[in-house]
Amino acid sequence: MRIIIILLISGYLYPQRNDSQAAFYNIGSKAIIGGVGALINKKSDEKGSKVFLKGMYQGALGGYLTFESKRLVRQFHRTDNYAYLWPSKILNSAGNSIIYNAASNRNFWERWHMDFGFNYLEYDFKREKKLRYRILPFALYGNAYGFATSKFHFKRTLYSGHFIFKSINPQEFNELETYGSALFNTIQFKRNINIDIEAVIAHEIIHVYQYTSAFFINAYLKEPIKRLEENSNFFKQYNKVFYTDLNAPLNGGLYNIQTLFRVNYYDLLQEKEADYYSSNHF
Ligand SMILES: [Zn+2]
Repeated sequence: MRIIIILLISGYLYPQRNDSQAAFYNIGSKAIIGGVGALINKKSDEKGSKVFLKGMYQGALGGYLTFESKRLVRQFHRTDNYAYLWPSKILNSAGNSIIYNAASNRNFWERWHMDFGFNYLEYDFKREKKLRYRILPFALYGNAYGFATSKFHFKRTLYSGHFIFKSINPQEFNELETYGSALFNTIQFKRNINIDIEAVIAHEIIHVYQYTSAFFINAYLKEPIKRLEENSNFFKQYNKVFYTDLNAPLNGGLYNIQTLFRVNYYDLLQEKEADYYSSNHF
């Protein structure tokens, strides 16, 4: 666990002041995540150095795609054109799928996944039952929270591929003086003030991508999860319906640790990254 947190933080520590630095951060951190994950999932007859290198270059490829997906969010922010968002989401899912495959010590093309709100779709070229659908419990909580506290924005959700809500309660965001929030992959924006809604959404999508970028954690925990399944019938049944998005507490924990250390809001690593692509504080 400790190594995963260090890996996640080390990725963020690299400054993202221009696109080459941002690309370097995305590629470099995911190369390490891919390499280390591949080693964790190494088969006994495989050579460590070879497995590590394969994981690294596949991770780098995935990292590059996620970088481009964030650049498309920036294009959306600059143009207010929603046509950028689905391609961005598909690119992001492809990149994270490749990183996941890398960290699982698989070929980069074997398994593809995509999240849409609480829905998790997986397509595996090597599996007999290729398509698999499961529910993401943390994302489900985020969606339910959205429905309970705010108004579902159907059109924006359809156009963006992200569950988007308009907050009913004007008090909601006042404490932080922010105009939006992202709870896992649920986005909320404040109503009836003069804000650039697209700028808020662009910023929050980067936060959603921080959630999706940590899906690899399940590849790191593949063995313990398998053992749990073997020992517990309940867990086996549970895993047929749910896919625990452990990336949610991982990403949230990283955010909260910084708050504990009294890091200034705009200096939070995740906020800095979101600001970089949406050039705004939200
Ligand atoms: Zn933010």
